[in-house]
Amino acid sequence: MDSRKINEQYKKIAENLIATEPELAYIRNSSARIAYLESGFAKKKGKDIIVNGQCEKVQTKNQWAINYDFTITLFLPNIKYFTEDQIRILLFHELLHVGIEYEDDGSEKYYIRPHDLEDFKIIIDKYGTSWNRT
Ligand SMILES: [Zn+2]
Repeated sequence: MDSRKINEQYKKIAENLIATEPELAYIRNSSARIAYLESGFAKKKGKDIIVNGQCEKVQTKNQWAINYDFTITLFLPNIKYFTEDQIRILLFHELLHVGIEYEDDGSEKYYIRPHDLEDFKIIIDKYGTSWNRT
């Protein structure tokens, strides 16, 4: 079952990334609130794509209960053999999904930023990331 709880270790790693990585300065300079969670669920996408992590936007209508703008969840069974470095990279990846736009009045608008590289892992593994470039 996909029940989730706060993971303080992920929070520590992620806050360090936000504080130090130039590519995450846009989060540092925002007031976006992010919850870092773990799940014991072996999440999959479709039949055989293993999901290591997930970044989700908390819907405005649910914010009375969840005092965050985003949740980042790592699925423990799927990252059992990850090194600390791999977990850090995974959190970096998920943080890059945190999308922030600014309205004309300066207020922040949040969204999930999609990958700039959409593909199947197996294709990338076999053929690299530029197989479809011309
Ligand atoms: Zn992703």
